[in-house]
Amino acid sequence: MNKLDTALVTSALKEAGFTLTASVKEAEVVLINTCSVREHAEQRVFSHLGHLKHIKKSRPDMVVGVIGCMAQRLGDKLLEHEAVNIVCGPTQIPQIADLLKHAFEKNEKRLAVTEKILQKTTDIQNQTLERFESAYGIEDKQIPSQAYVRAMRGCNNFCAYCIVPYVRGPEVCRPPEAIIEQIKKLASKGVKQVTLLGQTVNSYKYKKGQKTWSLADLLNASSDIEGIEWLRFVTSYPSEEFFDEILQVMADSPKVCNYLHMPAQSGSDKILHAMNRHYSAAWYLELLARARAFVPGIAIAGDFIVGFPGETEDDFQATMDLLIKARYKNAFIFKYSPRPGTTADKRLEDTVPAEVKKKRITELLAAQEKISDELARDFLDKEVKILVEGLSKKSHRNIADSPDNPQLVGRTATDYIVVFNGPMSLAGRFAKVKIIKTSPLTLFGELS
Ligand code: SAM
Ligand code: SF4
Repeated sequence: MNKLDTALVTSALKEAGFTLTASVKEAEVVLINTCSVREHAEQRVFSHLGHLKHIKKSRPDMVVGVIGCMAQRLGDKLLEHEAVNIVCGPTQIPQIADLLKHAFEKNEKRLAVTEKILQKTTDIQNQTLERFESAYGIEDKQIPSQAYVRAMRGCNNFCAYCIVPYVRGPEVCRPPEAIIEQIKKLASKGVKQVTLLGQTVNSYKYKKGQKTWSLADLLNASSDIEGIEWLRFVTSYPSEEFFDEILQVMADSPKVCNYLHMPAQSGSDKILHAMNRHYSAAWYLELLARARAFVPGIAIAGDFIVGFPGETEDDFQATMDLLIKARYKNAFIFKYSPRPGTTADKRLEDTVPAEVKKKRITELLAAQEKISDELARDFLDKEVKILVEGLSKKSHRNIADSPDNPQLVGRTATDYIVVFNGPMSLAGRFAKVKIIKTSPLTLFGELS
């Protein structure tokens, strides 16, 4: 989501005459796009702001804006920060160029957030966001052939720990024709892979005439677009609604990548209930089994929160049990972070001590690493098709490098990261790579 918002803002500002600088030192404007999901992310923003405050002492004309979820959550409190000139929530990002212009001309602080975030967004807001969304965000310089397209905004689920509904507002599904048009436009610019985004993207629905469009319909229609070769979607909420239809499209369409990111959050039914997640651990595992039956070879990723209020050792063991049974390709595991305003924070005490959270996350990560390692080993000596993203950010010492044969990185349809040496001209193109070495999170290969 945040990457998409960054791309939208970047291209809107380019059109307004701004250019990107290589470093903060050269910048006249610094925008920080923020996430509020965990406290740690917010702390990092404050530390950046501290640094910017320092820079602004010698360059008082520099304009600093905070955009995104933290802007919506903290609003005027954030505007009070010495370094900050603009605070702009996710719903207001279409105004960003105007806000900046104003900050330059009048040297005034400006706040643009939604006052009653839990209320349904107005038609005018939706139309403004829609216009902004379909006009911008086409480029992702680093990965020229791939793009994110929002299928829905916001979330209505109110999981007890989660800040998203309070900063992104209620769920709004974008009209299917707007999504399809946007994908066509992207395809005409050379985009080969599109990832459809939504907090619960599998529950996408939009009534148009007699027909209610689902994610399965969106995927089907997008599969027909010439130039688009891979389609992905994230994140899925464990739900019966449309599940089989979506899996069927995945099984039938060679363009829909065999990858499902479906967070479980916990393996304890007691904790799932306290989290306001509407499923049991056993039923969640049944969904995974069904996904694997529909789409053999599907790669599944999950999320977990350890140390949710009231999580006992038995609850944690139930989570461990689920993780082992689920055999995820990878799992994103977080320590519970109380978020002000959420029901968990208001009603439940953060009972699990920090060192217990740490121990549990370490154990769960170790168990997942073992599974990821086993699953990755299956790729040894096999050839995989990847979409090449560009230069590998991390340098892996055991692969020989030369200027015309640098270390590149790509991803398989099942979301495995593949590192190999090859010409930079492969960036944004598909390639076949033979896997010669594996690690839990990365496959290493040679161009076939
Ligand atoms: N919409 C997605 C879903 O329902 O699975 C996930 C959205 S959230 C932005 C991404 C992940 O952050 C969640 O799956 C959850 O594991 C984690 N998360 C959310 N709130 C959290 C909190 N208060 N503390 C720790 N982790 C949290
Ligand atoms: Fe947050 Fe739950 Fe919505 Fe995901 S489904 S964004 S975890 S409230």
